[in-house]
Amino acid sequence: MSEQVALLGLGTMGSGMAANLLKAGFALTVYNRTAAKAEALAAAGAQVAQTPFEAVKGASVVIGMLADDAASREVWTGRNGALEGVKQYAILIESSTASPAWIAELATLAAQRGAQFLDAPVTGSRAQAAAGQLTFLVGGSEQALAAATPVLKAMSKEIVHLGPQGSGAKMKLINNFLCGVQVASLAEGLTWIERSGLDPRKALAILNAGAPASPLLGAISDRMMTRNYAVNFLLKLMAKDMLYAQKEAETCNVDLKTANVARGIFEEAIAQGFGEQDMASVIESLRAS
Ligand code: NAP
Repeated sequence: MSEQVALLGLGTMGSGMAANLLKAGFALTVYNRTAAKAEALAAAGAQVAQTPFEAVKGASVVIGMLADDAASREVWTGRNGALEGVKQYAILIESSTASPAWIAELATLAAQRGAQFLDAPVTGSRAQAAAGQLTFLVGGSEQALAAATPVLKAMSKEIVHLGPQGSGAKMKLINNFLCGVQVASLAEGLTWIERSGLDPRKALAILNAGAPASPLLGAISDRMMTRNYAVNFLLKLMAKDMLYAQKEAETCNVDLKTANVARGIFEEAIAQGFGEQDMASVIESLRAS
């Protein structure tokens, strides 16, 4: 019989990850707060659970892919939560971008249940989740990671073991801190270009071929120019990541001033109604100013 896996959270990322677990032949049970998002996966062969508690029954590997600390806390520890139902020695993997403080708490709760725990947030976005091309940034024991590797491989192109529990969560926040600051500065830069009289396409071609170029600059400048805000990464989640990054850096006595400014720019866009759109839409609040 194939290994039983549970996936909790079928948003932009979780739904692609679940589809790849099914493709790889795992016996998959999924849970999502909004049940309708599970329909396509049910048609593809997944079992659909009504609660996180029900979803994890019998699973040897359980993956959480949820919005933030509050969502993760709710699904693991809330009413009919997953932790109550996990079997002993199961491997619990939190792949949400969460704060290291919550990860430490969750790891303790997992240990109290006799389960193993890995934090394994991801880089890559909607397309990489759908294509099974994510990179997992893993914190936890080598033994737990070795046991979870076949499951993680089904969703990824790369698995990087960064150290003990919490290491993946820390690395992910550093990664997204740099991304968030870059997106916010791009929004300012492109708004400036548009008001300067320069040809925006020529100006972006220079930036995208020059020293400021990055995969993020290329993708996001294109979305900003075409005003295509179909969701790859929700704007409100980037504001969350900036906040978590600031709090975590503070524990190392580092004041992320640029994250603070970037977060202000994202929060302004949220106040103007762009929180549920792609993060590239952050430029719209600057265009309107
Ligand atoms: P998403 O589309 O917003 O999905 C969020 C998931 O969390 C949904 O399943 C949602 O359920 C659930 N959720 C939210 N609040 C909840 C609550 N209070 N109780 C129970 N469930 C709740 O987010 P995503 O883009 O898939 O991202 C998931 C995680 O990966 C986030 O931590 C994000 O920062 C991170 N991440 C995202 C990307 C990306 O490019 N999108 C890339 C790397 C990492 P409903 O469907 O019911 O709302």
